Amino acid sequence: MVPNRAPTDRSAPGRGSGRKVHFDMAHKYPMINMNEAVDRVISRAHPLPHENVALVDAVGRVVAENFVAPRPHPPFAASVMDGYAVRGEDCPGVLALIGASRAGAPMRGAGDTSVQPGQCAYITTGAPLPTGADAVVPSEDCGVDGSVVSIDAEVEAGKWVRPVGFDIKVGETLVPAGSLVGPHEVGVVAAAGGGVIRVHRKPKLALLSTGDELAEAGEVEPEASSGRIYDANRPMLAALARTSGVDDILDLGRAPDEPGALAATVARAHADGCDVLVTSGGVSEGDRDYLKEVLLGRHGGGIEGEVHFGRVMMKPGKPLTFAEVRLKNDARGKKMLVFALPGNPVSAAVTFHLVVVPSLRRMMGWRDPRLRRIHAVVSSDLKLDPERPEYHRATLDWQERPAATTLGAFIPGASADDDVMGTRYLPLAHSTGKQVSSRLTSMRGAEVLMELPRGPGTVAKGTVVSALVIGDLSSASVQLPAISPEVVR
Ligand code: AMP
Ligand code: MG
Repeated sequence: MVPNRAPTDRSAPGRGSGRKVHFDMAHKYPMINMNEAVDRVISRAHPLPHENVALVDAVGRVVAENFVAPRPHPPFAASVMDGYAVRGEDCPGVLALIGASRAGAPMRGAGDTSVQPGQCAYITTGAPLPTGADAVVPSEDCGVDGSVVSIDAEVEAGKWVRPVGFDIKVGETLVPAGSLVGPHEVGVVAAAGGGVIRVHRKPKLALLSTGDELAEAGEVEPEASSGRIYDANRPMLAALARTSGVDDILDLGRAPDEPGALAATVARAHADGCDVLVTSGGVSEGDRDYLKEVLLGRHGGGIEGEVHFGRVMMKPGKPLTFAEVRLKNDARGKKMLVFALPGNPVSAAVTFHLVVVPSLRRMMGWRDPRLRRIHAVVSSDLKLDPERPEYHRATLDWQERPAATTLGAFIPGASADDDVMGTRYLPLAHSTGKQVSSRLTSMRGAEVLMELPRGPGTVAKGTVVSALVIGDLSSASVQLPAISPEVVR
């Protein structure tokens, strides 16, 4: 519940304009649920225009148009082995060695360079098969004496030869539109001779911390009595933006809780061409929380805007606000998405993952921009919040548990009849501890946000829950045993 009470300090000079409006703010923004919030955000985050980028710079981008092979690979019939290029029908037999075809140096020479009946040519891996030859015999299967090569076995035409287009056919779609470019896609495009690739532009993101109390690491340490604390959010949100694939970040620094200054800073982000502005602080119910009103254009700065939601039924992060803002004098009418995240650092981080990441992905062209969802077994009892669904941070521990055993063997303190049948390969989710939204260490190492329902009650250890992935699972504690698969003969 949002306390419906007037701010206590009504006398601060120079802060007047936002105060009265602020009083009824609690009622102005209905509390929507998280799914609805994500839908509203995604429906307003549009894939950005296309651009050509050099292949080496394409990692992390989403391909905008199918990349089609302009030529086959290999472009000629190529040897798979170091050995001798022969005519299959001549084998077994004793053959005259007439030349060599090496990778990058096909057989050439005076007169006829094709392999005639009774002849062969030395060949290396990747070299063009000389005309006349139709197979390769590996060196280890040949007896060589000067310019005479003897082969004991039969040789099928085509043996140890990669025909034209064996790996890549001309016209084949090598990297479909919508794929995320990683190192292997770079390799595939390079193999086909592509030096540039058409991808979606990445969003330019502006970052702003708001709050009179904020100090910066590296500054003279603030006295405790000054009421100042270090700005944790800006560095963290910049890092989150980077790990989400954004590299063009405008650092707007810190703004005081002053409507005019906030409006001017929001306007600057737009004027600088940012697609997205992420702020933290100043969107809650305090008498210095001006940001929603600023985004609506009520404090100048030449901006006008729409707030699409201002409260979300979630913990942490209830005051999460999403708006679109325009500059009144901008002829193009370009809208900038604004995510005004709550100031508590855990709320800022969790809401960034839940709504900012999907919107960035969408702008970068991701087909499915949502966070990935997995199932996990909770390793301790989790008390539910009676009022709001909670995103409970956890690390994963993905080891095999023997089938049909009890959780007791794996979770200290679990009772012997805690059944884990059927959950053998699910990870355990270990809570990061106290989940209060100021305790940023509850985010440390977190790989998932467990989706816990509203209470009352407790989710008992051993229960399967769903969880949204926020970490890089390639470095997670995952180690299932290697399997020798059953083989069908
Ligand atoms: P607010 O959302 O502005 O009401 O702030 C909520 C809480 O988060 C307060 O305790 C603030 O001091 C704290 N806070 C706001 N911004 C930051 C920040 N950038 N870094 C660390 N703590 C912050
Ligand atoms: Mg504040």
